[in-house]
Formats: sequence, structure tokens, C-alpha cells
Amino acid sequence: MFATFDQLKGRLIVSCQASPGDPLEDTDAIRRIAMAAVGGGAAGLRVNSAEHIAAIRRNTKLPIIGIQKQYGSAGLRITPDFAAAAALAAAGASIIALDCTDRAWPDGDPWQELIQRIHQELRLPVMADIATLDEALAAAAAGADCVGTTLNGYTESTLGNHSFSWTLLAQLAQQLDVPIMAEGHVSTPEEARRAIDGGAWCVIVGSAITRPGNIAAKFAHALEKVAFSAPAIGVDIGGTSIKAGLVRRNGEVCLSVKTPTDAAKGRDAITAGLVQAVEQVLAAAADKRLEPVGIGIATAGAVDRRDGSIFAATDNLPGWSGFRLRSFAEERFHLPAFVVNDAQAAVLSELHFGLGRGLSDFVVITIGTGVGGGIVAGGKLLRGQHGFAGTIGHSVIRAGGRPCNCGRNGCLEAYVSTAALLREYRENGGAVPEGTIDDAALALRINQLARQGDAAAQEAYAVLSGYLAEGIANLFNLVDPQAVLLSGGLIEDYAQFVPDLQKQVEKLLHFGAKRQPRVLAAKAGQLAGVQGAAALVFESRQ
Ligand SMILES: [Zn+2]
Repeated sequence: MFATFDQLKGRLIVSCQASPGDPLEDTDAIRRIAMAAVGGGAAGLRVNSAEHIAAIRRNTKLPIIGIQKQYGSAGLRITPDFAAAAALAAAGASIIALDCTDRAWPDGDPWQELIQRIHQELRLPVMADIATLDEALAAAAAGADCVGTTLNGYTESTLGNHSFSWTLLAQLAQQLDVPIMAEGHVSTPEEARRAIDGGAWCVIVGSAITRPGNIAAKFAHALEKVAFSAPAIGVDIGGTSIKAGLVRRNGEVCLSVKTPTDAAKGRDAITAGLVQAVEQVLAAAADKRLEPVGIGIATAGAVDRRDGSIFAATDNLPGWSGFRLRSFAEERFHLPAFVVNDAQAAVLSELHFGLGRGLSDFVVITIGTGVGGGIVAGGKLLRGQHGFAGTIGHSVIRAGGRPCNCGRNGCLEAYVSTAALLREYRENGGAVPEGTIDDAALALRINQLARQGDAAAQEAYAVLSGYLAEGIANLFNLVDPQAVLLSGGLIEDYAQFVPDLQKQVEKLLHFGAKRQPRVLAAKAGQLAGVQGAAALVFESRQ
């Protein structure tokens, strides 16, 4: 065996080439790239053309595998004839690489003949660039001193292989006695290491190291994917309306629809509304040539995380309990489907697209007709056995207190909700504003009045925040989060009371002043449920 091979055992060879037309296709640029690779620890180089080899040889004594690419009528051939091989040798190549695939070439010399002449007349070893096991065996039988997997993926029979063929390496390692050079599609240090472990003599890496254009394209493509491709459908089923939207990976909702829930008519009416909303979004997506990759559904009620069915639902959604929502959506829309409770969807929205992006541990409390919530611990939504984790509304803040719709007394939800806000407002002498229709609308009106300085409305909020502080203090004791985020229309539009609420929490907590508990108004808006539901799809594809 030639001594050159000992120098290369277990080492990295860097292929320094540029495509025709590439700004780096320049002798001195290639020489500089090669010297940078040597500085980084390359034990050898693979270089195209006598001119480049001669330039690099003046700077280094390391082994250089020389090739001469020739673009002909039958495609690209590597070192087609003896004249080319002789020129590479004269320029200082240590090994001559040849195209030894079984493709037929109209011109040039047969590679079997070339191997003999290179050995006899140039006294240099030959590397056989092959694509298949059979070609490798033929090349070794014809006297090639080593084989490279270089052309796997580039010949007709192997076209479409865009990653390193570990199967081919394993076969070569088993059946060949000559050194095997792993080359082509090796793109990470881990893959290089794996190739050596898999029996390669050495590893040749090109584009992944020496082509900034390719590297930049990879990054640019990845970001493009994040922003524009693979959108998901998000749906939010509430007691009064169903919202659906097409959500990009960065959380942007690029189109959305809203339809009444018609909940009083039962399950079939709810699913009819769901189908209508989703089909509208699908049609609009098709117009934009966007293909949703999945559908995430947030719904009121308790969701069984194990099969995406409705474990239990309140009277707001009659007949919803027991419905196998995930199966229904998968069969109806032919997309992977995910189901989550709406309060937890709000948490996912904050986690991926809102204030939670920089946090690893936080709690979201959603205040509306009830109190929902969710806990993020270690960067992940805590779902628990069934999917019920974070049911903050039913933590008791007054033993034996007001009756709650869960059957207990004194739950946070019995003291903090739209209904509770209304009650406090009336008890403080506030007149019920005219022209409003239901509790939720009334509560939003009180929210508005508080913002405008109405005393009774502000007092109602003060009482509400006293109770809420108890619930939040419990959370800080239980979870020790970086922040508690408050969401829901009642909070977002009257965030003025949040700093006061934070002070109350501080007073209730042991070492509160030192702990400085953070309470913030959440960032997510009306479409938080839609965004959070879509986030489930993205999470499944990471
Ligand atoms: Zn309760």
C-alpha cells in the first residue's frame, strides 16, 4: 500500500471546489479556502484541475487527491483520459481520482486502462469514484487502490439519493479490502464520525465546509419554511362562536372566519358550524396555494388528551360531552388533528407566539364566564394524566364559601368571573348600563367604565382583584413561576389594575417582597385560541 494512505487513516479530507459561475471559482480563492481547511485540521485535500493543485501545492505538503472534471455530452465525468491524469500528477497530486461508474462514455479512455497507466507511468495510487457496490468491486478488481462513495446519488441508477448511503458503506466495508473513502452528502461532524465507525478509512467533506453559498441557502431556506410554508388550521370552539384560521409557523393568522356556535341545538349543530368554518378556511387556503399540514382544535370543556375526545362539557355546549372530536376531524378533513382545552390553547399561544417566548416557567389565567388556566413548566405545557392540569378556577380560596358549579364551595371561579364582576358592580351601587345583552357584554361595559374612572366599576375590580390575588398567591407557592399572565377581555382592556394586583400577591406571599412575583396582562388577543390550537400541529412536527 502507498504510504499516503497511512497519513489519511481516520482523518478528514476537505474537498475544495467551486461550481462554474460561483464567485469563488478562482484559483487564489480556492487556494485560500484550502489553506483555511488545513489550518482547521484537514489531513488532506481534494482539488479540481492542475492549476488549482499547483497553486495549493506551493503552500502544503499534505496529500492532495487530484481530479479533472469534464462536462461533456454524456454528463460530468471525473478525469476522463490519461493526459488529464498526467497533468494532475505534474501539478503535484498525490492520488488521482477517476470516474469508475459503469456509465458508457463516448470519448476519453476506459477507466480500467487508466488505472494501469497511472500506476505504471505516473507511479501514483488511484481512487475509484463509484456509485454502487458492483462498481466498487469491479474497480477494486481492476487495481484501484481505494474507492470513494462520491458518485452515489449522481448516476442514473442512484439518482434521488440526497443523503449519505449508510447501506452502501456497510456493504463496501464488508466486501472490500482496499480503503473506503466516505464522500458525498456528509454534512455534519456527527455523520463524519459515524462513517469512520462504519468502516470508512477516511471522510471527504466538500460543500458543508467550503461552499458558503450552499450553507447560506440552507439557512435561508429554513427561515423561509418557518415563515411561509406548512401552515396549520387552528379552530376555537366556544359557547357563542366558532373561530377558525390559517396560521403560519410564526403565529401569524393569515385568514380567519367566525361563525355562531348555535350550541343550544346540540352536538350536530356544533359540528356543522365546525365543518362550515374549516371548509371556508380550506377553500381560502387552496386559493392561496397553501397546503395546511394539520388541524388543531381548541374547545370549551374538558378534553381527554389520550384520544382527543370531550371528557366533559358544561351546559354551554349541550351534548358535547363524550364526542370523539379528534377522530371526527381526522375523518372529515383528512388531516392529522389535535384537540386541546381552550384555556390551554391560550397558554400555548403565549408560549409560542406571546409573552411566554422568553420564559420557561409561567402560568396563564384566562378569566371569562369561568376561570381557566394552564401551567408551563420547563418550557412545556403541563397536561397531566387526562389533560386537566392547571384547572386553577377550582382551587378553593374560601373554605365553605360561595357555591361553585363544580359542586364545591369557595372556588376561585365563584369569586372571579364576568358574573362575579357584575355582582360586585351592582353591590357597589353601579347601575346596570343600558343597551347590553348578556353577562359577557355587560362585564365588558363595566371594564370600559372602570377605564373611564367610574367609581363603582373600579371598586368592583378592586374586590375582584383581592380574590384573584389569593388564587395567584397559591400558584406562586405551588409552581414558583417566572410570571403569571392574565388573559381574557376583562383583563386586557383594563390592565391598569394589574400592578395593584401584583402588590396584593406580594403581600400574601411568604418572603413576597424578596420574591417580587410578576403578574402581567397577557399579549394574546381574540385569536389566541386559534393560534394555540395550531401550535399543537407545529409541536407535533418538530
Ligand atoms: Zn369549583
